[in-house]
Formats: sequence, structure tokens, C-alpha cells
Amino acid sequence: MKYCNFCLQPDTRPGTRLSIDGLCPACIYSQNLNNIDWKERYEILQNIIEKKIKSKKNNLNIQKKSKFNKHYDCVIGVSGGKDSTRQALYVRDKLKLKPLLVCLAYPPEQITNLGASNISNLINLGFDVEILSLAPQNWKKLLKTAFMKYANWAKASEHALYATVPRIAIRYKIPIIFWGENPAIQFGDLNTKGKEEYEGSNLSKMNTLGGGKIDWLYKFGFEEKNIFNFSYPKKSEFKKNNVENIYLGWFFANWNIKNNASFSILYGLNLREDHYKNTQDLYGIYSLDEDWVTLNQMIKYYKYGFGRVSDYVCDDIRFGQITRNQGIKILEKYDGKCGEKYIKSFCEYIDISLNTFWRVVHKHVNKKLFKIEKNNNIKPLFKVGKGLI
Ligand SMILES: [Zn+2]
Repeated sequence: MKYCNFCLQPDTRPGTRLSIDGLCPACIYSQNLNNIDWKERYEILQNIIEKKIKSKKNNLNIQKKSKFNKHYDCVIGVSGGKDSTRQALYVRDKLKLKPLLVCLAYPPEQITNLGASNISNLINLGFDVEILSLAPQNWKKLLKTAFMKYANWAKASEHALYATVPRIAIRYKIPIIFWGENPAIQFGDLNTKGKEEYEGSNLSKMNTLGGGKIDWLYKFGFEEKNIFNFSYPKKSEFKKNNVENIYLGWFFANWNIKNNASFSILYGLNLREDHYKNTQDLYGIYSLDEDWVTLNQMIKYYKYGFGRVSDYVCDDIRFGQITRNQGIKILEKYDGKCGEKYIKSFCEYIDISLNTFWRVVHKHVNKKLFKIEKNNNIKPLFKVGKGLI
């Protein structure tokens, strides 16, 4: 286990690798931000819009032939959180496009009041929002299966989250899907790299989606009629329908966690209130539409040695807001933590005991990075910022 020399990103993050100088991809990208010609990037964005939307809108032949959607210019997947609120406003007010916002609503047992209020906020801001809500009974089974087999309840729901947006864009023949950050750049998941840094044709290769394949769901007995919404469209479907994925974050000089939140708060974003010792959410701005993300971040910590707090701390170090040493202290204290109430409510939801929960988690603890002690305490075998002791 090695850490980035500049921030505190470990090389245990799936899909990442450190440079010869010991830097993670996100640090290399952020250190280069001052040398970027942002005007040029804005022109690239305008060219994409011209080519994909405006030129076709004015060409009736193309419209007839390809059933080009002349009402909506682009699709943005939204939860009503910090990134999607900022994107939606930018696309409408700065780029002067007409977006269709697509929201995959979580089952009733899980969506938070906070998530609901933030999606309402987006609707109130004057957007068309298409909300797809999948059968909660089915979702509950998927969550349970994903947890019991992989200790990752979100494995199924992330398929649905990422697949719903392109499925709707393809269905309506809307030519551009705007996503926020490029996972290859912002998180160092290099498998998602496309031909250009703003281009997202390899989005489905991100670690959590594993190529967008949902064979594992068939393996565990789910029928196609219940999971077709979880299947990420094939590249050929994008091509046939002229739909393209674009990372909007690449065009922003100041795209990061805190800036997006600060901007969106001004437009009505509501924040999480629970303390970060329970949620790992230092500023209360992450994944506001559900609470069990904390639980998954705790398990991620046991699998890879880093959790949600790492994302904040690494961003803060890169943008000069804290030192690496300050970051180490914060991570040692809070990374991987999860309030007991979230674990309990999760166990109740999928109907398992706390003992079963911990048995599954223990099975997936990375034994190279952690030791499970006799009293079931999980002790790290590494020092944050240094690696294995
Ligand atoms: Zn780094």
C-alpha cells in the first residue's frame, strides 16, 4: 500500500496507479489546472454543442431521418445534490440549452426527506424532471443479494443509477448526456479514460459498474423483466442513436466538491445535519438522497483502506486548504466510521441480524490491511500517509 506523495490517495483505490514521481492521477490533473486554457475548453464545449445539437436542430432532413429530439438538447442525471444542481443551472443559464433532468428515485424505505427536498428544489428552480421509481420490493431483494454476496449493497443500485440516464437519452433520441466529473481524472479510476478527457464512452468501465454487465444478477436468479433497467446500454446503441456522454466537470476551472456545494447552496440545496463522526461527511454535502452510503463507505474502508473522508481530505490538500499532516490526523480520526443507527436500520431493512451483518463484513475485510481482533475490533495494519506498518 503506497500513498500519493502530495495528497493521501492510496494506490489501493481500484483502477488507479501512482506516477513514477509518486503522484495520483487527480493530483497530476489538479497541479496542471493553472496551465489550462479555459477559454479554449469552453470553445471545445461550444463546438460539441454546435455539432451535436444546433446544426441538427436546423436541419429538417436529419430530424426526419434520425428522429432527432427537437425539444430537449441534453439529459442530466440528477439527485438534486450539489453536482447535479450546479450542472443543471449551468447548462440552462450559461449554455442556454434545454435539459431533461432524469432522476432515479430510491425505494420509499430509503429515500431521505433531505433527498426529496433537494429534488423538489430542482423542480422549483424550473426544470423538467423525469423521475423513474423502480419497484421497491424488487430493489430490496437486489440490495440484500448485493450485500450478502459482495458486501456492497450499492452494487445493484449503481447499475440502475448509471443505466437509467442513457436509457432515457436513447429512448428519446436526445444527443448529449452531461455527467459531472470524469472518474479517471477526479478519482483516478483510469479504466474509464476515453479518447478525450471530456468524453465518456468508457464510463461503464468504472470500478463500481464493472463494464455495465449484470450477469451476476441473472446468476442469483433475478429475471430479466425485473432488472432490465439495471443494464447499461451497449456502445452500439449509443452510436446508432447518436447519443454521446460528456463530462461537464472537465470544462470548469473550479469544479470540486466544495465549490459545487457552495454554488448549489445559494440555489436552495439543503445539507445533511448528522455529525460527521457518524457519516464521514465532513461538510454534510455528499449523497444527500440516502443515508446508507456511510455504511458502504465504512465497508469500502475495510476493503481498500480509505473511505469518504479521504475524498474530502485529498481534495482539500490539492486545493491548498489543509496540509497533508492535518489531513492525516482527520483521516485517522474519522475515515471509515459509521453511526450505529445506520447499520441497525440497514439490517432491519434487509431483515438480517447485526451478527450476520458483521459476519459478511468480516469476510470481506482486506486481511493484508486490517486485523480482526478477538473482540471483533477491526484494526488497521497501516499508518495513514505511510502505508503498511
Ligand atoms: Zn494525490
